[in-house]
Amino acid sequence: MPEIHEIRVPDLGDYADVPVIEISVEAGQAIARDQTLLMVESDKATLDIPSPVAGRLVEMLVGLGDTVSAGTLIARVAADQPADTPPVPVPAPAPAAPITTERSGIDCDVLVIGAGPGGYSAAFRAADLGQRVILVERNATLGGVCLNVGCIPSKALLHVAAVTEEAQRLAAHGVSFGAPAIDLEKLRTFKAGTVRRLTDGLTQMARQRKVTVIRGTARFTGPKTAAVALHDGVTRDLAFTRAIVAAGSSPVALPMLPEDPRIVNSTGALELPCVPGRLLVIGGGIIGLEMATVYSALGARVDVVERLPNLLEGVDRDLVAIWTKRNAHRFERLLTGTEVTSAMADPKGIAVTLSGEAQATTYDLVLQAAGRRPNGAALGLEAAGVSVENGFVSVDAQMRTNVPHIFAIGDLVGQPMLAHKAVHQGHVAAEVAAGHRAGFDAAVIPSVAYTDPEIAWVGLTETAAKAAGRVVEVARFPWAASGRAIANGADYGLTKLLFEAGTKRVVGGAIVGPSAGDLIGEVALAIEMGADATDIGRTIHPHPTLGETVGLAAEAALGLCTDLPPAAQR
Ligand code: FAD
Repeated sequence: MPEIHEIRVPDLGDYADVPVIEISVEAGQAIARDQTLLMVESDKATLDIPSPVAGRLVEMLVGLGDTVSAGTLIARVAADQPADTPPVPVPAPAPAAPITTERSGIDCDVLVIGAGPGGYSAAFRAADLGQRVILVERNATLGGVCLNVGCIPSKALLHVAAVTEEAQRLAAHGVSFGAPAIDLEKLRTFKAGTVRRLTDGLTQMARQRKVTVIRGTARFTGPKTAAVALHDGVTRDLAFTRAIVAAGSSPVALPMLPEDPRIVNSTGALELPCVPGRLLVIGGGIIGLEMATVYSALGARVDVVERLPNLLEGVDRDLVAIWTKRNAHRFERLLTGTEVTSAMADPKGIAVTLSGEAQATTYDLVLQAAGRRPNGAALGLEAAGVSVENGFVSVDAQMRTNVPHIFAIGDLVGQPMLAHKAVHQGHVAAEVAAGHRAGFDAAVIPSVAYTDPEIAWVGLTETAAKAAGRVVEVARFPWAASGRAIANGADYGLTKLLFEAGTKRVVGGAIVGPSAGDLIGEVALAIEMGADATDIGRTIHPHPTLGETVGLAAEAALGLCTDLPPAAQR
């Protein structure tokens, strides 16, 4: 039986009866030693109250707005192991402050629902513009999908995968490290630490900006009111002048898959439950291929099944062909134009049948990465008069919904479902809500698959140009002509730029190769600034770099690249 620790407020110096302004954890949650349990605020400072033990929170005994003093009993924690520090001394004779259970409604200028990249960016920007902001988040930590179960944990694992495989490739250059030894527990700890550092940072920044964070699930109850169901069962009423809805999206669950712990979505896969012998990834988009990369680097044999005729739909085929060749070793089967027709859980694994000729196989783990759907249906938006269609909320360029004082941003308002889009929309919504002139008018939004190698693309693709009947000039710079790519063992890469015929204004670009995601930013900037081939080609790029390939592709478009044979230019 784990030992139950009573956690009390430590010595607060001269302060007593200070209000709890934030509860950072919820009952049942695993907590680390020194993890913040709650925050209190005096008239001079804000203080974290950490847990002196690691374990699981049994119960939180105080709520937001309750007042506490040194010695107040605030929580009970079932410790993982006996605490190696003595319990926090209870100053005598300080009696525990009475716990206030009455909670009143509060109001604000801007209510933000959801603390993902869209919501926290909107909340912070609105606070920076002088608004009184309340940010409501149903999860224990801020950061939404991106920080907790999306962009950041996946990139932590992809970094490990890329370095592991790069180290193995060095054998061809005369340096061998031997087979990797995987310590899953350490890897999980590294991933969790990366996430925690960022989510804790957000909590601190919310505090510094005096954004009131409420942990609970929000629903609109009227055009200017909402109710938040707190984790302790209490409901809190809020009144707002304007609201920004940033409730994000959730993974699609495929109806033909049974309930079984061996069938996971991206959130489950990021928990690294095991290294399966055989993994089936359903979905050949960015998320599916990123997770396939991680698990294959850890040693799983991976099949990918994609319903559409191509992997990474939306990317030009010449780049995907390079990616596929480079990843041939990684997958047992890459099945495009194929669907899962049935799946049955049996003791040996998940037996999956596929459409067409593909052979039925039993897998140790199945990852469904077949898309995400917006969370608009469960927000009570109808009570506020906001229209919702299939979970999506429509907005104008100011991010206003059909109800002008209610804004929506991020995954909730449609594709592309990307964090950087959500952040920019959050800033626009906050600025408009604070009475400023602003609009979301990005010319392009870059996309990146952080696989090995990475693929990044922005603006018009060759395929889309053809489909639309648009005449474009295409310039390619193969990395086989880049000194840096050859030195890095990345001579298979490709940088491609698309220019408007005649004006030679850049309208699109795509890159496959290491760090493609970092390199594509230059192309996005060039498109936003209306740059042409001369602007990019005449900009002196540092040598020898992979970024140089963007400049060299533009030179090729101008027919003045001396690093390619004359015939290879365009
Ligand atoms: P979210 O991040 O989904 O946040 C919404 C928040 O609202 C959540 O925290 C949710 O708990 C909260 N919420 C919902 N309803 C309520 C309610 N009623 N009351 C209170 N709170 C509520 N994007 C990239 O740009 N780059 C990447 O590399 C990348 N990698 C990804 C990897 C994976 C595995 C996944 C799943 C996604 C990835 N994404 C990536 C997509 C990215 O995570 C999302 O586009 C982004 O998080 C959307 O931000 P958001 O603010 O709209 O919503």
